[in-house]
Amino acid sequence: MHIGIVTLFPEIAASFGSLGVTGRAVEDGRITLDIENPRSHAGDAHGTVDDRPYGGGPGMVLKVEPMRDAIEALRKRLPDASRTVLMSPQGRPFDQDRARQFAELDGLLLVCGRYEGVDERLLELAIDEEVSVGDFVVSGGELPALLVADAVARLVPGVLGAEKSAEQDSFVEGLLDCPHYTRPEEVSGLKVPPVLLSGDHEKVRRWRLKQALGRTWRRRPELLRSRRLRDEEQSLLDEFIAEAKSLNGRK
Ligand code: SAH
Repeated sequence: MHIGIVTLFPEIAASFGSLGVTGRAVEDGRITLDIENPRSHAGDAHGTVDDRPYGGGPGMVLKVEPMRDAIEALRKRLPDASRTVLMSPQGRPFDQDRARQFAELDGLLLVCGRYEGVDERLLELAIDEEVSVGDFVVSGGELPALLVADAVARLVPGVLGAEKSAEQDSFVEGLLDCPHYTRPEEVSGLKVPPVLLSGDHEKVRRWRLKQALGRTWRRRPELLRSRRLRDEEQSLLDEFIAEAKSLNGRK
């Protein structure tokens, strides 16, 4: 998969291609990372990419031409069917489903705003859709773009070492992930749940599924409302709820 990023701060975006799981994916050639700086498409010797807002007010606005030209230059290096996505707090909220859809594309071009954002006309000229990473505002689109690029990259086949681990992540099955434990068996008086030491794979599977259901019920009940439970899931969740209630009753 080809991921392009249009940014005034290439150093921030470059960490994606040099560190951790995503760094290895770039090294292996499963992901191609391509960065374009609008500064090199500025129309003047000063490299001006922003200007004061019409109508007055604070802050600066990213000009159309350098942004559009950077996007066009990058698009030429990306597969034809790539999607151009502007990072914006006003965009559609990003989630695991959207990550899965993006992961099926051959190319994804992420455009990072700065300052007050981009000139509105850029949207019409060069952007397919706007994506938000949450109801908060950060200073630039780089961290949001890296969030999206990372969430997408780990769904590309072969990027995660253990192919299975993405399937068990939170949201993939519409549930939060179960709790995880590693050595030692006891730390500061806290023990690992005995079932995980039992070696009984079926018991472990049921325990994990029950915890995932229980956590989702506790922390994100709205996720359960939009998902049909299988018979086994429903009975495990019923058990979890009954146990939680009897624990509460004892307090
Ligand atoms: N004035 C704008 C915010 C500008 S913040 C507004 O209120 O809508 C500067 C840039 O950071 C934005 O152009 C966008 O690219 C990025 N950004 C900030 N918050 C974001 C979020 N929640 N999701 C995605 N991008 C965001």
